[in-house]
Amino acid sequence: KLLLAIESSCDETSVAIIENGDQILSNIVASQVKSHRRFGGVVPEVASRHHVEQITLCIDDALAEAQVEPEELSGVAVTFGPGLVGALLIGISAAKAFAWAHGLPLIPVNHMAGHIYAAAFVQPLTFPLLALLVSGGHTELVYMKESGAFEIIGETRDDAAGEAYDKVGRVLGLSYPSGKEIDELANIGSDTYHFPRAMIKEANYDFSFSGLKSSFINTVHNAEQRNEPLVKEDLAASFQASVIDVLVEKTVRACKEYPVKQLVLAGGVAANQGLRAALSERVLTDLPETTLIVPPLKLCGDNAAMIGAAAFVEAEKEHFANYSLNADPSLSFTTI
Ligand code: ATP
Ligand code: MG
Ligand code: FE
Repeated sequence: KLLLAIESSCDETSVAIIENGDQILSNIVASQVKSHRRFGGVVPEVASRHHVEQITLCIDDALAEAQVEPEELSGVAVTFGPGLVGALLIGISAAKAFAWAHGLPLIPVNHMAGHIYAAAFVQPLTFPLLALLVSGGHTELVYMKESGAFEIIGETRDDAAGEAYDKVGRVLGLSYPSGKEIDELANIGSDTYHFPRAMIKEANYDFSFSGLKSSFINTVHNAEQRNEPLVKEDLAASFQASVIDVLVEKTVRACKEYPVKQLVLAGGVAANQGLRAALSERVLTDLPETTLIVPPLKLCGDNAAMIGAAAFVEAEKEHFANYSLNADPSLSFTTI
């Protein structure tokens, strides 16, 4: 079963051809990050314009690289939320046009489900499963009783983890998005600033990163006013240690209350080397029954392959959309 999948929720235009939900025949990613960098964040209008320019080229490239003809496909998958409404609509329009032209069913996919299903390319997912979803716009612990069923057991009360990385990166004068660079600096620095670990002891699975961000900004400003030297590496390491401590602690605790065979680390921040290492170490020592699945780096950030993997499950259940499919910018899983 071959699916064409389209992702355009933010600043990556991506099209993939996926076989049987777990094999990538092609995964074209046209990133716009350079165009947004000078603004220090994603500018929705600029994003939409890039998607319009790139989408048909990406579809052609994905088919050519996979050596697949449209007639061989059995469906067209597309991200319909959450994300930027204008950006989403371009992917949705392209998907509708392609589906209509080739008589294919249209499969609507939740972008966050896609992030989790990136793990399906590593090994088959088994249920129940827990996922730590950490990205630019979301930080949540998701419980999956079965394939295609998503329940949030905890989430951030304010900033997402990736958002916090990007905001403190700005204060350090790094370019957007700064997660990767902070990760690299953290790797050579040490936790000398001891920033707070918000909500780490609270009996819930929620997170908060805005206090950490404020502590970080205050530390930098105070040092600048007093003309004290700032050690970027140590600031990065201290920030990262706080983020990782809280994420790992609460995730391990969640796995104890919701016993699962598999734990998935997903989303753009799952590319973080410190987080990958710390979580796998804790899972080995504290959760011997649990297998941690971490997608390869290129499948952590936004891409259409992950959308194709999530779509495969939806297609099996014949969860198709008609041509009235609209974007849902604030699409969310249910909360328990
Ligand atoms: P969402 O998925 O919530 O809709 P998004 O799609 O914009 O948001 P992703 O593309 O999943 O977000 O992730 C991008 C985020 O990941 C950015 O905030 C970026 O800084 C962060 N990021 C990327 N690499 C790393 C890393 N190595 N360490 C920490 N953060 C990282
Ligand atoms: Mg992006
Ligand atoms: Fe994303």
